[in-house]
Amino acid sequence: MSIITMKFGGTSVGSPEAISNLVQIVREARDAGDQVVVIVSAMAGTTDALLRSITFAREGNRWSYRELSDKLRDKHEDAINFLMDASPERESIINEIRRLLDQHHDLCDAIAILGDATPRAIDHAVTFGERMSSAMISAVLSAHGVPAQAFDAGQLLVTDDVHQNATPQWDATRANITERLIPQIEKGVVPVITGFIGATPDGVYTTLGRGGSDYSAAIFAAYVNSDQFIVWTDVDGVMTTDPRIDKRARVLSKVSYQEVGEMAFYGAKVLHPKTVQPIVNRGIPIWVRNTFNPTHPGTLISHDSDDTGTVIKAVTAVRQVSLLTVSGAGMLGVPGIAGRSFLATAGAGANILMISQASSEQSFCFSVLQHQAPQVKAAVEAELAEEIQQNNVDGVHIRDDVSIVTVIGAGMRGIPGVAGRVFTRMGEQGANVLAIAQGSSECSISFVVEESIVRDAVIGLHDLALEAV
Ligand code: ASP
Ligand code: MG
Repeated sequence: MSIITMKFGGTSVGSPEAISNLVQIVREARDAGDQVVVIVSAMAGTTDALLRSITFAREGNRWSYRELSDKLRDKHEDAINFLMDASPERESIINEIRRLLDQHHDLCDAIAILGDATPRAIDHAVTFGERMSSAMISAVLSAHGVPAQAFDAGQLLVTDDVHQNATPQWDATRANITERLIPQIEKGVVPVITGFIGATPDGVYTTLGRGGSDYSAAIFAAYVNSDQFIVWTDVDGVMTTDPRIDKRARVLSKVSYQEVGEMAFYGAKVLHPKTVQPIVNRGIPIWVRNTFNPTHPGTLISHDSDDTGTVIKAVTAVRQVSLLTVSGAGMLGVPGIAGRSFLATAGAGANILMISQASSEQSFCFSVLQHQAPQVKAAVEAELAEEIQQNNVDGVHIRDDVSIVTVIGAGMRGIPGVAGRVFTRMGEQGANVLAIAQGSSECSISFVVEESIVRDAVIGLHDLALEAV
Protein backbone atom coordinates (compact mmCIF):
# COMPACT_ATOMS: atom_id res chain seq x y z
CA MET A 1 0.00 0.00 0.00
CA SER A 2 1.33 3.38 -0.83
CA ILE A 3 0.39 6.98 -0.16
CA ILE A 4 -0.42 9.06 -3.21
CA THR A 5 -0.77 12.82 -2.91
CA MET A 6 -2.90 14.28 -5.69
CA LYS A 7 -3.28 17.94 -6.53
CA PHE A 8 -6.23 19.00 -8.65
CA GLY A 9 -5.88 22.40 -10.33
CA GLY A 10 -8.59 24.97 -11.02
CA THR A 11 -9.92 23.42 -14.23
CA SER A 12 -9.78 19.94 -12.67
CA VAL A 13 -12.35 21.11 -10.09
CA GLY A 14 -13.90 23.72 -12.38
CA SER A 15 -16.99 21.91 -13.66
CA PRO A 16 -19.27 19.03 -12.69
CA GLU A 17 -17.66 16.87 -15.42
CA ALA A 18 -14.18 17.56 -14.11
CA ILE A 19 -15.22 16.76 -10.54
CA SER A 20 -16.78 13.48 -11.71
CA ASN A 21 -13.42 12.56 -13.20
CA LEU A 22 -11.72 13.51 -9.93
CA VAL A 23 -14.06 11.20 -7.99
CA GLN A 24 -13.33 8.38 -10.42
CA ILE A 25 -9.55 8.92 -10.19
CA VAL A 26 -9.54 8.96 -6.37
CA ARG A 27 -11.83 5.96 -6.20
CA GLU A 28 -9.70 3.88 -8.55
CA ALA A 29 -6.56 4.61 -6.54
CA ARG A 30 -8.31 3.55 -3.34
CA ASP A 31 -9.67 0.43 -4.99
CA ALA A 32 -6.10 -0.42 -5.93
CA GLY A 33 -5.29 -0.26 -2.20
CA ASP A 34 -3.60 3.13 -2.04
CA GLN A 35 -4.17 5.90 0.49
CA VAL A 36 -4.94 9.20 -1.17
CA VAL A 37 -4.34 12.77 -0.01
CA VAL A 38 -6.06 15.45 -2.10
CA ILE A 39 -5.09 19.12 -2.43
CA VAL A 40 -7.43 21.37 -4.39
CA SER A 41 -7.30 24.74 -6.09
CA ALA A 42 -10.30 27.02 -6.21
CA MET A 43 -12.76 26.35 -9.06
CA ALA A 44 -11.33 27.87 -12.27
CA GLY A 45 -11.83 31.64 -12.37
CA THR A 46 -12.72 31.93 -8.67
CA THR A 47 -9.46 33.49 -7.44
CA ASP A 48 -9.65 36.10 -10.22
CA ALA A 49 -13.29 36.82 -9.32
CA LEU A 50 -12.42 37.21 -5.62
CA LEU A 51 -9.64 39.64 -6.51
CA ARG A 52 -12.06 41.62 -8.68
CA SER A 53 -14.51 41.73 -5.78
CA ILE A 54 -11.84 43.47 -3.69
CA THR A 55 -11.33 46.06 -6.39
CA PHE A 56 -15.08 46.68 -6.54
CA ALA A 57 -15.24 46.92 -2.74
CA ARG A 58 -12.40 49.43 -2.65
CA GLU A 59 -14.25 51.54 -5.18
CA GLY A 60 -17.40 51.29 -3.09
CA ASN A 61 -19.11 49.42 -5.91
CA ARG A 62 -21.39 47.31 -3.71
CA TRP A 63 -23.67 46.13 -6.44
CA SER A 64 -20.79 44.62 -8.44
CA TYR A 65 -19.29 42.59 -5.61
CA ARG A 66 -22.75 41.40 -4.63
CA GLU A 67 -23.25 40.18 -8.18
CA LEU A 68 -19.87 38.42 -8.21
CA SER A 69 -20.68 36.74 -4.94
CA ASP A 70 -24.02 35.50 -6.33
CA LYS A 71 -22.26 34.09 -9.38
CA LEU A 72 -19.79 32.20 -7.21
CA ARG A 73 -22.65 30.81 -5.16
CA ASP A 74 -24.46 29.61 -8.31
CA LYS A 75 -21.34 28.06 -9.74
CA HIS A 76 -20.69 25.99 -6.60
CA GLU A 77 -24.34 25.12 -6.06
CA ASP A 78 -24.79 24.01 -9.67
CA ALA A 79 -21.86 21.64 -9.32
CA ILE A 80 -23.13 20.33 -5.99
CA ASN A 81 -26.66 19.80 -7.29
CA PHE A 82 -25.33 17.99 -10.32
CA LEU A 83 -23.05 15.71 -8.32
CA MET A 84 -25.14 14.99 -5.20
CA ASP A 85 -28.69 13.72 -4.82
CA ALA A 86 -31.05 15.63 -2.56
CA SER A 87 -30.06 14.75 1.01
CA PRO A 88 -29.31 16.37 4.37
CA GLU A 89 -25.62 16.25 3.39
CA ARG A 90 -26.35 18.23 0.25
CA GLU A 91 -28.28 20.85 2.25
CA SER A 92 -25.45 21.09 4.70
CA ILE A 93 -22.70 21.67 2.10
CA ILE A 94 -24.87 24.24 0.32
CA ASN A 95 -25.28 26.06 3.62
CA GLU A 96 -21.58 25.86 4.24
CA ILE A 97 -20.84 27.52 0.87
CA ARG A 98 -23.39 30.25 1.65
CA ARG A 99 -21.84 30.80 5.07
CA LEU A 100 -18.38 31.23 3.52
CA LEU A 101 -19.73 33.63 0.88
CA ASP A 102 -21.53 35.63 3.58
CA GLN A 103 -18.20 36.05 5.35
CA HIS A 104 -16.63 37.14 2.08
CA HIS A 105 -19.44 39.63 1.61
CA ASP A 106 -18.95 41.06 5.11
CA LEU A 107 -15.26 41.47 4.36
CA CYS A 108 -16.08 43.34 1.13
CA ASP A 109 -18.46 45.59 3.09
CA ALA A 110 -15.66 46.41 5.52
CA ILE A 111 -13.30 47.18 2.64
CA ALA A 112 -15.99 49.35 1.04
CA ILE A 113 -16.31 51.38 4.24
CA LEU A 114 -12.55 51.82 4.56
CA GLY A 115 -12.06 52.40 0.85
CA ASP A 116 -8.82 50.46 1.15
CA ALA A 117 -7.63 46.85 1.30
CA THR A 118 -4.42 45.76 2.95
CA PRO A 119 -2.47 42.76 1.60
CA ARG A 120 -3.69 40.93 4.69
CA ALA A 121 -7.33 41.62 3.78
CA ILE A 122 -6.73 40.58 0.17
CA ASP A 123 -5.19 37.29 1.29
CA HIS A 124 -8.14 36.65 3.58
CA ALA A 125 -10.56 37.35 0.73
CA VAL A 126 -8.96 34.91 -1.72
CA THR A 127 -8.86 32.05 0.80
CA PHE A 128 -12.61 31.61 0.26
CA GLY A 129 -11.99 30.08 -3.18
CA GLU A 130 -10.00 27.11 -1.90
CA ARG A 131 -12.09 26.84 1.29
CA MET A 132 -15.26 26.47 -0.80
CA SER A 133 -13.73 23.98 -3.21
CA SER A 134 -12.25 21.75 -0.50
CA ALA A 135 -15.57 21.67 1.39
CA MET A 136 -17.43 20.90 -1.83
CA ILE A 137 -15.04 18.21 -3.09
CA SER A 138 -14.96 16.51 0.27
CA ALA A 139 -18.79 16.40 0.39
CA VAL A 140 -18.99 15.06 -3.16
CA LEU A 141 -16.40 12.35 -2.46
CA SER A 142 -18.28 11.29 0.69
CA ALA A 143 -21.55 11.17 -1.26
CA HIS A 144 -19.86 8.78 -3.69
CA GLY A 145 -18.74 6.42 -0.98
CA VAL A 146 -15.21 7.75 -0.44
CA PRO A 147 -14.71 8.75 3.22
CA ALA A 148 -13.31 12.26 2.99
CA GLN A 149 -12.69 15.23 5.25
CA ALA A 150 -12.07 18.87 4.32
CA PHE A 151 -9.00 20.53 5.82
CA ASP A 152 -8.24 24.23 5.89
CA ALA A 153 -4.50 24.62 5.33
CA GLY A 154 -4.70 27.75 7.48
CA GLN A 155 -4.57 25.26 10.34
CA LEU A 156 -1.71 23.19 8.95
CA LEU A 157 0.64 25.20 6.80
CA VAL A 158 2.42 27.78 8.96
CA THR A 159 4.11 30.66 7.14
CA ASP A 160 5.77 34.00 7.74
CA ASP A 161 3.62 37.13 7.39
CA VAL A 162 4.66 38.18 3.88
CA HIS A 163 1.17 38.37 2.46
CA GLN A 164 0.57 37.21 -1.13
CA ASN A 165 3.99 35.54 -1.24
CA ALA A 166 4.41 33.80 2.10
CA THR A 167 7.25 31.42 2.94
CA PRO A 168 6.48 28.22 4.86
CA GLN A 169 7.91 27.57 8.29
CA TRP A 170 8.96 23.98 7.92
CA ASP A 171 9.15 22.64 11.46
CA ALA A 172 5.80 24.00 12.60
CA THR A 173 4.15 22.82 9.38
CA ARG A 174 5.59 19.36 9.68
CA ALA A 175 4.48 19.10 13.31
CA ASN A 176 0.89 20.06 12.39
CA ILE A 177 0.78 17.58 9.54
CA THR A 178 2.15 14.80 11.68
CA GLU A 179 -0.25 15.54 14.49
CA ARG A 180 -3.48 16.31 12.63
CA LEU A 181 -3.28 14.85 9.16
CA ILE A 182 -1.40 11.59 9.35
CA PRO A 183 -3.77 9.98 11.92
CA GLN A 184 -6.70 10.65 9.57
CA ILE A 185 -4.86 9.15 6.61
CA GLU A 186 -4.07 6.08 8.70
CA LYS A 187 -7.77 5.73 9.45
CA GLY A 188 -8.47 5.52 5.74
CA VAL A 189 -9.94 9.01 5.40
CA VAL A 190 -9.09 11.03 2.28
CA PRO A 191 -8.10 14.53 3.43
CA VAL A 192 -9.18 17.24 0.98
CA ILE A 193 -6.88 20.15 1.73
CA THR A 194 -7.01 23.73 0.49
CA GLY A 195 -4.06 24.57 -1.75
CA PHE A 196 -2.53 28.04 -2.00
CA ILE A 197 -3.24 29.16 1.57
CA GLY A 198 -1.49 29.05 4.92
CA ALA A 199 -1.48 31.14 8.08
CA THR A 200 1.02 32.88 10.34
CA PRO A 201 1.74 31.36 13.78
CA ASP A 202 -0.99 33.73 15.07
CA GLY A 203 -3.52 32.25 12.67
CA VAL A 204 -3.71 35.14 10.18
CA TYR A 205 -4.36 33.83 6.65
CA THR A 206 -1.59 34.13 4.06
CA THR A 207 -1.16 32.84 0.51
CA LEU A 208 1.82 31.37 -1.30
CA GLY A 209 1.38 33.49 -4.44
CA ARG A 210 -0.65 32.92 -7.61
CA GLY A 211 -0.51 29.35 -8.80
CA GLY A 212 0.72 28.38 -5.34
CA SER A 213 -1.41 25.26 -4.94
CA ASP A 214 1.24 23.16 -6.66
CA TYR A 215 3.72 24.33 -4.06
CA SER A 216 1.35 23.66 -1.13
CA ALA A 217 0.62 20.23 -2.51
CA ALA A 218 4.33 19.42 -2.75
CA ILE A 219 4.75 20.40 0.92
CA PHE A 220 1.94 18.06 1.94
CA ALA A 221 3.30 15.34 -0.35
CA ALA A 222 6.66 15.59 1.39
CA TYR A 223 5.40 15.62 4.99
CA VAL A 224 2.86 12.83 4.67
CA ASN A 225 5.71 10.74 3.22
CA SER A 226 4.07 10.15 -0.12
CA ASP A 227 5.30 7.49 -2.45
CA GLN A 228 3.98 9.46 -5.38
CA PHE A 229 2.81 12.99 -6.08
CA ILE A 230 0.42 13.50 -8.99
CA VAL A 231 -0.42 16.95 -10.31
CA TRP A 232 -3.74 16.62 -12.16
CA THR A 233 -4.17 19.40 -14.68
CA ASP A 234 -5.75 20.08 -18.08
CA VAL A 235 -2.85 19.13 -20.36
CA ASP A 236 -1.26 15.74 -20.97
CA GLY A 237 2.02 16.61 -19.31
CA VAL A 238 5.10 18.79 -19.52
CA MET A 239 5.54 19.90 -23.12
CA THR A 240 8.54 20.66 -25.31
CA THR A 241 7.22 24.20 -25.71
CA ASP A 242 4.03 26.24 -25.40
CA PRO A 243 1.58 24.73 -27.93
CA ARG A 244 0.06 28.18 -28.46
CA ILE A 245 3.41 29.27 -29.90
CA ASP A 246 4.21 26.08 -31.80
CA LYS A 247 1.54 23.49 -32.61
CA ARG A 248 4.19 20.82 -32.94
CA ALA A 249 4.76 20.86 -29.18
CA ARG A 250 4.68 17.37 -27.72
CA VAL A 251 4.55 15.83 -24.27
CA LEU A 252 7.83 14.79 -22.65
CA SER A 253 7.61 11.40 -20.99
CA LYS A 254 10.39 11.98 -18.46
CA VAL A 255 12.14 15.08 -17.18
CA SER A 256 14.41 15.71 -14.20
CA TYR A 257 13.58 17.88 -11.18
CA GLN A 258 16.22 20.29 -12.29
CA GLU A 259 14.92 20.56 -15.83
CA VAL A 260 11.36 21.15 -14.73
CA GLY A 261 12.55 23.72 -12.18
CA GLU A 262 14.29 25.68 -14.95
CA MET A 263 11.26 25.36 -17.22
CA ALA A 264 8.90 26.67 -14.56
CA PHE A 265 11.22 29.51 -13.62
CA TYR A 266 11.59 30.49 -17.27
CA GLY A 267 7.97 30.71 -18.19
CA ALA A 268 6.45 27.23 -18.62
CA LYS A 269 3.12 27.49 -16.82
CA VAL A 270 2.80 23.81 -16.01
CA LEU A 271 4.08 23.90 -12.41
CA HIS A 272 4.73 26.62 -9.86
CA PRO A 273 8.52 27.19 -9.84
CA LYS A 274 8.87 26.19 -6.17
CA THR A 275 7.05 22.88 -6.54
CA VAL A 276 10.13 20.69 -6.71
CA GLN A 277 11.79 22.21 -3.61
CA PRO A 278 10.08 20.17 -0.89
CA ILE A 279 10.16 17.05 -3.04
CA VAL A 280 13.64 16.85 -4.49
CA ASN A 281 15.61 15.71 -1.45
CA ARG A 282 13.14 12.96 -0.75
CA GLY A 283 13.18 11.84 -4.37
CA ILE A 284 9.38 11.55 -4.49
CA PRO A 285 8.38 11.07 -8.13
CA ILE A 286 6.02 13.73 -9.51
CA TRP A 287 3.60 12.92 -12.30
CA VAL A 288 1.88 15.62 -14.32
CA ARG A 289 -1.33 14.17 -15.75
CA ASN A 290 -4.53 15.24 -17.48
CA THR A 291 -7.82 14.95 -15.54
CA PHE A 292 -9.66 15.06 -18.87
CA ASN A 293 -7.52 12.33 -20.46
CA PRO A 294 -6.71 10.02 -17.54
CA THR A 295 -5.52 7.14 -19.70
CA HIS A 296 -2.57 9.22 -20.92
CA PRO A 297 0.47 8.33 -18.77
CA GLY A 298 1.60 11.98 -18.47
CA THR A 299 5.11 13.18 -17.61
CA LEU A 300 7.27 11.65 -14.89
CA ILE A 301 9.54 14.08 -13.01
CA SER A 302 12.30 12.48 -10.97
CA HIS A 303 16.07 12.53 -10.54
CA ASP A 304 16.53 11.00 -13.96
CA SER A 305 16.26 12.77 -17.20
CA ASP A 306 15.05 10.85 -20.18
CA ASP A 307 17.36 10.63 -23.11
CA THR A 308 15.16 11.99 -25.87
CA GLY A 309 18.02 11.82 -28.32
CA THR A 310 18.11 15.61 -28.47
CA VAL A 311 20.36 17.80 -26.44
CA ILE A 312 17.67 20.43 -26.12
CA LYS A 313 14.50 19.12 -24.59
CA ALA A 314 12.34 22.17 -24.18
CA VAL A 315 12.15 25.83 -25.09
CA THR A 316 10.38 28.44 -22.97
CA ALA A 317 9.93 32.19 -23.00
CA VAL A 318 9.24 34.85 -20.40
CA ARG A 319 7.47 37.76 -22.06
CA GLN A 320 7.29 41.42 -21.02
CA VAL A 321 10.69 41.67 -19.48
CA SER A 322 13.06 44.63 -19.20
CA LEU A 323 16.82 44.50 -19.49
CA LEU A 324 18.60 46.84 -17.07
CA THR A 325 22.21 47.79 -17.70
CA VAL A 326 24.49 49.31 -15.10
CA SER A 327 27.62 50.74 -16.69
CA GLY A 328 30.47 53.12 -16.04
CA ALA A 329 34.17 53.32 -16.69
CA GLY A 330 34.89 53.67 -12.97
CA MET A 331 33.35 50.29 -12.14
CA LEU A 332 36.38 48.35 -13.26
CA GLY A 333 37.68 46.30 -10.39
CA VAL A 334 35.45 48.01 -7.82
CA PRO A 335 34.02 45.26 -5.72
CA GLY A 336 30.46 45.24 -4.50
CA ILE A 337 28.63 47.24 -7.16
CA ALA A 338 26.84 44.22 -8.58
CA GLY A 339 26.07 42.87 -5.13
CA ARG A 340 24.62 46.14 -3.94
CA SER A 341 22.58 46.52 -7.11
CA PHE A 342 21.07 43.06 -6.69
CA LEU A 343 20.27 43.69 -3.04
CA ALA A 344 18.59 46.97 -3.97
CA THR A 345 16.59 45.08 -6.62
CA ALA A 346 15.42 42.59 -4.03
CA GLY A 347 14.59 45.47 -1.72
CA ALA A 348 12.35 46.89 -4.45
CA GLY A 349 10.45 43.59 -4.41
CA ALA A 350 11.64 42.39 -7.81
CA ASN A 351 12.95 38.99 -8.73
CA ILE A 352 16.02 38.88 -10.99
CA LEU A 353 15.40 36.53 -13.89
CA MET A 354 18.81 36.57 -15.51
CA ILE A 355 22.21 38.21 -15.00
CA SER A 356 25.12 38.64 -17.35
CA GLN A 357 28.44 40.42 -17.19
CA ALA A 358 31.19 40.69 -19.73
CA SER A 359 34.76 40.35 -18.54
CA SER A 360 35.58 44.02 -19.10
CA GLU A 361 33.66 44.66 -15.86
CA GLN A 362 32.54 48.00 -17.24
CA SER A 363 28.94 46.98 -17.32
CA PHE A 364 26.58 44.24 -16.32
CA CYS A 365 22.96 43.69 -17.09
CA PHE A 366 20.08 41.87 -15.55
CA SER A 367 16.43 41.37 -16.29
CA VAL A 368 13.26 41.79 -14.30
CA LEU A 369 9.59 41.81 -15.23
CA GLN A 370 8.81 44.96 -17.18
CA HIS A 371 6.27 46.38 -14.73
CA GLN A 372 8.92 46.31 -11.99
CA ALA A 373 11.70 47.94 -14.00
CA PRO A 374 11.04 51.62 -13.07
CA GLN A 375 11.08 50.94 -9.33
CA VAL A 376 14.20 48.77 -9.68
CA LYS A 377 16.01 51.52 -11.62
CA ALA A 378 15.12 54.04 -8.89
CA ALA A 379 16.26 51.68 -6.11
CA VAL A 380 19.59 50.83 -7.77
CA GLU A 381 20.31 54.47 -8.60
CA ALA A 382 19.60 55.46 -5.02
CA GLU A 383 21.94 52.72 -3.79
CA LEU A 384 24.72 53.83 -6.17
CA ALA A 385 24.07 57.56 -5.70
CA GLU A 386 27.62 58.26 -4.58
CA GLU A 387 29.26 56.36 -7.44
CA ILE A 388 26.93 58.10 -9.90
CA GLN A 389 27.77 61.49 -8.47
CA GLN A 390 31.49 60.73 -8.80
CA ASN A 391 30.90 59.64 -12.40
CA ASN A 392 32.19 56.14 -11.71
CA VAL A 393 28.81 54.74 -12.65
CA ASP A 394 26.68 56.24 -15.41
CA GLY A 395 23.37 55.08 -13.99
CA VAL A 396 20.86 52.42 -14.93
CA HIS A 397 19.62 52.12 -18.47
CA ILE A 398 16.31 50.34 -19.11
CA ARG A 399 15.45 48.54 -22.31
CA ASP A 400 11.78 47.53 -22.39
CA ASP A 401 9.88 45.13 -24.64
CA VAL A 402 12.28 42.23 -24.51
CA SER A 403 11.78 38.54 -23.71
CA ILE A 404 13.95 35.86 -22.21
CA VAL A 405 14.15 32.69 -24.27
CA THR A 406 15.50 29.60 -22.52
CA VAL A 407 16.54 26.25 -23.92
CA ILE A 408 16.58 23.43 -21.39
CA GLY A 409 18.07 19.95 -21.34
CA ALA A 410 20.21 18.09 -18.85
CA GLY A 411 21.88 16.41 -21.83
CA MET A 412 23.68 19.61 -22.80
CA ARG A 413 26.00 19.23 -19.80
CA GLY A 414 29.48 18.56 -21.03
CA ILE A 415 28.46 18.49 -24.69
CA PRO A 416 30.41 21.07 -26.62
CA GLY A 417 28.80 23.17 -29.28
CA VAL A 418 25.28 23.44 -27.91
CA ALA A 419 25.48 27.19 -27.44
CA GLY A 420 27.01 27.41 -30.91
CA ARG A 421 24.04 25.62 -32.46
CA VAL A 422 21.57 27.72 -30.52
CA PHE A 423 23.07 31.02 -31.58
CA THR A 424 23.66 29.91 -35.16
CA ARG A 425 19.95 29.18 -35.32
CA MET A 426 19.20 32.62 -33.90
CA GLY A 427 21.45 34.14 -36.56
CA GLU A 428 19.56 32.23 -39.28
CA GLN A 429 16.31 33.62 -37.87
CA GLY A 430 17.73 37.13 -38.01
CA ALA A 431 17.27 37.42 -34.25
CA ASN A 432 19.48 39.91 -32.52
CA VAL A 433 20.62 38.52 -29.15
CA LEU A 434 20.93 41.25 -26.52
CA ALA A 435 22.35 39.29 -23.57
CA ILE A 436 23.23 35.69 -22.77
CA ALA A 437 23.53 33.61 -19.60
CA GLN A 438 24.13 29.97 -18.92
CA GLY A 439 23.39 28.41 -15.56
CA SER A 440 26.43 26.72 -14.03
CA SER A 441 24.38 23.55 -13.85
CA GLU A 442 24.69 23.59 -17.65
CA CYS A 443 21.12 22.45 -17.88
CA SER A 444 19.86 25.61 -19.56
CA ILE A 445 20.93 28.55 -21.67
CA SER A 446 18.96 31.79 -21.50
CA PHE A 447 19.17 34.86 -23.64
CA VAL A 448 17.35 38.09 -24.23
CA VAL A 449 15.75 39.04 -27.54
CA GLU A 450 13.33 41.72 -28.66
CA GLU A 451 9.74 40.89 -27.87
CA SER A 452 8.77 41.26 -31.53
CA ILE A 453 10.80 38.22 -32.61
CA VAL A 454 10.22 35.94 -29.65
CA ARG A 455 7.77 33.64 -31.47
CA ASP A 456 10.18 33.06 -34.34
CA ALA A 457 13.02 32.46 -31.91
CA VAL A 458 11.06 29.88 -29.94
CA ILE A 459 9.85 28.07 -33.07
CA GLY A 460 13.35 28.05 -34.56
CA LEU A 461 14.85 26.56 -31.43
CA HIS A 462 12.00 24.15 -30.96
CA ASP A 463 13.13 22.55 -34.26
CA LEU A 464 16.28 21.52 -32.41
CA ALA A 465 14.21 19.92 -29.65
CA LEU A 466 12.14 17.95 -32.17
CA GLU A 467 14.91 16.90 -34.53
CA ALA A 468 16.09 13.58 -33.23
CA VAL A 469 12.79 12.39 -31.76
N1 ASP B 1 -6.30 29.50 -6.83
C1 ASP B 1 -4.99 30.07 -6.84
C2 ASP B 1 -4.72 30.81 -8.13
O1 ASP B 1 -5.58 30.83 -9.00
C3 ASP B 1 -3.91 29.05 -6.57
C4 ASP B 1 -3.81 27.93 -7.56
O2 ASP B 1 -4.77 27.58 -8.23
O3 ASP B 1 -2.73 27.35 -7.66
O4 ASP B 1 -3.70 31.39 -8.28
MG1 MG C 1 -1.57 26.10 -11.64
